[in-house]
Amino acid sequence: MKSRSALLTFPKAVMDKPIISRLLKSCDVEVNIMQAFISPSEDGRMLAIFLGEEEALSGAFRFLEECSVAVRHPSRNVWLDEKSCVHCGACVAQCPSEALVLDPATLEVRLDEEKCTGCGLCVPGCVYGALESIGELLAAGGEGPVCDWREPGRR
Ligand code: SF4
Ligand code: SF4
Repeated sequence: MKSRSALLTFPKAVMDKPIISRLLKSCDVEVNIMQAFISPSEDGRMLAIFLGEEEALSGAFRFLEECSVAVRHPSRNVWLDEKSCVHCGACVAQCPSEALVLDPATLEVRLDEEKCTGCGLCVPGCVYGALESIGELLAAGGEGPVCDWREPGRR
């Protein structure tokens, strides 16, 4: 059995559909939800670990994409939670790889995954909890699912 982490984005239009329930019925995979933000008024996000054989995993991700769910597999150890980030810029100077950049046009901070080395130095520096270690989230999987239903701004 293999495991793959995935960041899922559910468009507003499908938020009322039991997509994960249908996925579990139609695909031979297990889904360990690590963190989720679900709201009827905006796109939903979920970080989950999928367990299953390679073919079943591919089928599950294909099923999600056919349901209009965007599937991303985090390639680095750090995840910038765009819903929690207030773009204060405090993390930019902490990144030795210049992977965290403040866009002068939009005044928003973004994470350049190509430059990020996954060192994790930036994670403790964000008081808003917007920078998270994928490794730590995944390690928590051994203790069961951790679902975070808090709304942005309440962290
Ligand atoms: S320190 Fe946190 S809230 Fe501030 S810009 Fe960086 S990620 Fe966003
Ligand atoms: S994990 Fe390291 S390289 Fe990546 S954004 Fe954070 S400080 Fe920069």
